[in-house]
Amino acid sequence: MKHLKLLIILLVLGSCSKNIYQISTKAYNKKAKTLGASLSRIKQDTVNNRLTNLVKSQNFNLRKPNLIVIHHTAQDSCQQTYRTFALKRTQVSSHYVICDDGTVTQMLNDLLRGWHAGNGSWGKNTDINSTSIGIELDNNGKEPFSYAQINSLIFLLQKLTEKYKIPAQNIVGHSDIAPGRKVDPSALFPWKALAESGLGIWYDEEKLKTVVLPLDFNVDFALKYMGYNTKSLKNAIYSFKLRFNAEEVSHEFTEKDKKILFLLMDEI
Ligand SMILES: [Zn+2]
Repeated sequence: MKHLKLLIILLVLGSCSKNIYQISTKAYNKKAKTLGASLSRIKQDTVNNRLTNLVKSQNFNLRKPNLIVIHHTAQDSCQQTYRTFALKRTQVSSHYVICDDGTVTQMLNDLLRGWHAGNGSWGKNTDINSTSIGIELDNNGKEPFSYAQINSLIFLLQKLTEKYKIPAQNIVGHSDIAPGRKVDPSALFPWKALAESGLGIWYDEEKLKTVVLPLDFNVDFALKYMGYNTKSLKNAIYSFKLRFNAEEVSHEFTEKDKKILFLLMDEI
């Protein structure tokens, strides 16, 4: 009897979780179809009280992503993340999820606007979701990233950067585009290893001991030049250090950080 009850509970739970994905898949297909159909229409508008004219050109294709944002999920399993991104009420999603064992799951077409970045900016780009692909790494934020997961990430990044011709400096972390608000991926994320595979940027460590900073080197300007929003310089510094000097993460900018930043200017 006890076993029967347990079996019923498991069956109910099983069918519930299956339902979420059925609903999500159905909603995805319907929405994608509606969006596709809406592209053939151009709604006439008014500009300065005059109705706009309409002459259709035949020369176009879909816009492509030009930025990749890496996240950690801050959740405990891929299953939990799939659920989060399949449920309507969460209003969050990502194009890809990479599990601990290296499994890559795609949840949105690359050309769709995912909801992974939230408020943020990189350079003059103030609508990150519109131009980017979001990649979520299954990681609770405190544990190291597994070899299998990083390996899959490198293969995925190689594929995406090649397909969409995304430059190395346009591979960023969520913390880079949202200083003061986001701290993912964590300090344990191997940015240097990624750069060694030609993905993302890193500085020439050999030069760190010998480099001489120009007297007029301006930290605020250099961070802005890289893409950071320096409205709060302290927050931008924290995000910068999380990525390029993860062993000494803080809001203080040291002489070493200045040299790293200066050397990075050569990489962009
Ligand atoms: Zn994130």
